[in-house]
This record gives sequence, structure tokens and C-alpha cells, in this order.
Amino acid sequence: MVKTRFAPSPTGKLHIGSVRTALYSWLFAERNKGVFVLRFEDTDFERSSESSVEGILNGLRWLGLKWNEGPYFQSKRLQYYIDIIDSMIQSGQAYKCYCSSIRLGKLRKSQILKGEKPRYDGKCRDNTIDYCNDISYVVRFRNPKKGKVIFHDSVRGEIIFSNKELDDLIILRSNGIPTYNFCVVIDDRDMKITHVIRGEDHINNTPRQINILKSLGADIPIYAHVSMIKENNGKKLSKRNNVIDIMEYYREGYLPEAILNCILRLGWSYGNKEIFSVDEMKKLFTLKGLSKSSSCFNIKKLLWLNHYYINKLPVEYIAKCLKYHFQIEKIDISEGPVLTEIIKIICNRCNTLKEIVHLSRFFYQEFDFVNNEVTRTHLNIKNIIILKEIINIIKNVSIWNVDNLSKLVKLLSIKLDICLSRIFMTIRFAITGSLISPSIDTTMYFLGKNRVLFRIKKAINYIEKIN
Ligand code: GLU
Ligand code: ZN
Repeated sequence: MVKTRFAPSPTGKLHIGSVRTALYSWLFAERNKGVFVLRFEDTDFERSSESSVEGILNGLRWLGLKWNEGPYFQSKRLQYYIDIIDSMIQSGQAYKCYCSSIRLGKLRKSQILKGEKPRYDGKCRDNTIDYCNDISYVVRFRNPKKGKVIFHDSVRGEIIFSNKELDDLIILRSNGIPTYNFCVVIDDRDMKITHVIRGEDHINNTPRQINILKSLGADIPIYAHVSMIKENNGKKLSKRNNVIDIMEYYREGYLPEAILNCILRLGWSYGNKEIFSVDEMKKLFTLKGLSKSSSCFNIKKLLWLNHYYINKLPVEYIAKCLKYHFQIEKIDISEGPVLTEIIKIICNRCNTLKEIVHLSRFFYQEFDFVNNEVTRTHLNIKNIIILKEIINIIKNVSIWNVDNLSKLVKLLSIKLDICLSRIFMTIRFAITGSLISPSIDTTMYFLGKNRVLFRIKKAINYIEKIN
């Protein structure tokens, strides 16, 4: 059975890069009817925080990346790791290193001066004296000196490391806390992880982890190291996009469907297909589609996808997603037209949920005119006649529907001998306070007779007061 995991270190926000790793791991488990594990690698106590754990959980929940097992916390298994390290010392698979940081510093310097790769020289490897706990020490894994580590990476193919390149890795720090590379190995073994999908920044850890797994007689999972994400200009993912909290996209009005679709394509492809529903992703995702070259994050593409999903997904769902955004803007939609109807008439112009809120605000909220150039252009003495006439017309409308309203406005244009566009813009500005709205008949229809009358009167008062 396939078992994947997402193993974030809770030292910051959930960002695009980590969401991608989570997404691929989740999809691969889903596609193979396997299990997706969530595991927090929180042994770096100084940098880990509970708020980061919360943030990561919220992000995964918002995106619908449901884990089947966990969340596990490495911090709760410390004694267990330490016991294993003790038994590895007993069996000679690991050893205590008493070297001082001064010695290691000097060693490092001299290696660098000689143009060598800095690494531990193995001084304590054959040490037979046990100082017990009298002198501070770290525990190192006894890495094989000879031979090679060869593994088949699902993205990069065969990868070979010579054991000569790998020094004896610290698995227990002097403060008694096991290190990342060790905990990962124990957890991947215990949790029976079959596929490790993670960023290519971990490639150098893999041979070390494989050696520890081998020494413990554990199965070696299949590894897939995915390429880095870049900016559209080919540069490394900028600090901003790299650390930006995925929930920021929620706050900016993106749909999870758009985010997942966009992130899916950062390093994975299926022919030329661009649009993938979540169900399609689950059906089509294979490791074969992962790309070796780095991929670009493009906010314009995300906007395009968001626009697509806003218009594609059921309006009832979009209405639900909009709740948060109306709340933030303190807009009460209970009094006013049915939101789903409004979404239908404006969604085509909107790239984000936030834009929907801005464009529909006037349907639910009163506004004041501000004395500026735009207002003076539309609300002036010359146009007051249009507003006065439209009040009479509207008062006498027999049936309140779009067709009728459309006809009446056109008749008014003929009667006053004023071009339609001026009529439209004057009414539009009076009843919406803006220059952008759906067609004037539809806008009036959804605003309702009372609101239209109220606002037109307000506009007339405004003009009279100003002049
Ligand atoms: N905790 C590691 C990180 O956040 C990931 C470890 C792994 O996937 O093996 O970078
Ligand atoms: Zn040493």
C-alpha cells in the first residue's frame, strides 16, 4: 500500500513551496488509494511554534488536503528516538564524539584553506574511552567509509553518492535532542512510508538517511525530489512569494480550486492540459509527470485560473466562499437582492472574490457622494432633468422587470432627446455611486423600486445642495 507524508517543520507559515509538496504527496496517495500522513518535525524548539502548527493546519484544511493519519509530533517522541540512539551506540552503529567546537572550527578552517569540503574527520570513531556524561558530547552515526549510495529518484533518475563524501552525521546534539535527519529516518521507517516526495533542497540528506535506514535494516522508500519554484523572470522564488502565508491568498479572495490548480502545474504536467479539477488531479497524478527543470510561479496565471473557477463553480458555492469577505467589509447581505443572482451578473468581470464584494457593495450598502471631478461630471444641473423624469417613470412602472425597465429608459432618451449613454451614466452614477455596474436595467431591477427611488432622490438633493 502506498503511504506518503507531508512533514513540515513548524517554523513559519505554510507557503507555496510547501503546499506543493503537500499537494503532490496527497495526490499520489489519493490516486493509489493509499494513506497520506501529516507529521510535524518540531524538534528545533527554538524555531518551532504552536502558531505555526495552527497556521499549517488551517492552510491544509482550507485547501482540502485531508490527511488520513496524524498529525504526529516528533517532539512527543523524543525519548523513543534517544532510546534507539542508545542501542545504536551499544551495537557500534553510532558513537559519542567529544570533540570541542574549537577543534571542529579549526578543522573546518584548515579544510577550507586546503580547498577541501569541510567535514568531520572521524577522530572519535574508534575512541574506546566512555566519559559517560562527564564531558559534553554529540552522537554520530557511523557512516560506511567505502562504497556508494545509489538510489533511483523518480524525478532525476539514478543518483550516486560516494560514501567518502559523507562524513559521520550528528544524530544527537549535545543538548540531548536528536537531529532532523535521524528523526525523519525513524519516522519514515515506523510509519511505513513508501514514497518520499519533497523539495530538491533535501537531496543531499537522502544518502545519509538511506545509510541510517540500511543500518537499521529498514526498507528504503522511493524518493522524488521536486525542483525549485522560480519567479516568472527566472529568478529564485522571491522572498515575498516564498514566505507568503498561503492564507494570504484566502484573504485576497482566491479559491482553493485555483490555488491547487496553479500549484499543481508548478512542476507537474499532463500534456498541454492547464485546467484540472481536484477530481481530475486525483485521477491523473503520477510521479512520471514531475518535471526536472524548475518551474515558474506567475500571479497572472493564478488570477486567470481564479477567474475561471469563479465563473465555473456553482454560484451557491461561490456565495459560501464570499461570506468571509462580506464580513470583513462589514457588508450585511441579508437586506438586498439574493446574492447568487448578483454573482451571476457580475462574476464575469471578477478575478477575485474581493472584486465581487467591491462590485456588489452598492446592492447592499448606502453610500455618500463625494464632491470631486467624477461626481460633478455626472451629477450636475444639466443632468437633473434625467433624474427627475426617471423618478416619475419608475413611480408608475406597472411590472418591475428588466425588459420593462430597459424600454422605459430608451423611451426617456427619445423624449428628452439625450443620448442613451448619457442617460445610462447619469442613472448609474446616481444609483450605484460608481461608473461600473451591470447594465442599467438589470442593476435597477435587482436594486428594487424603493432603493432606486431613494437613491435618485438623494442624487437630486445632492445636486440642488451643491448648486
Ligand atoms: N521537515 C522538512 C522540511 O520542512 C521536510 C523533511 C522531509 O520531507 O523529509 O523541510
Ligand atoms: Zn569527535
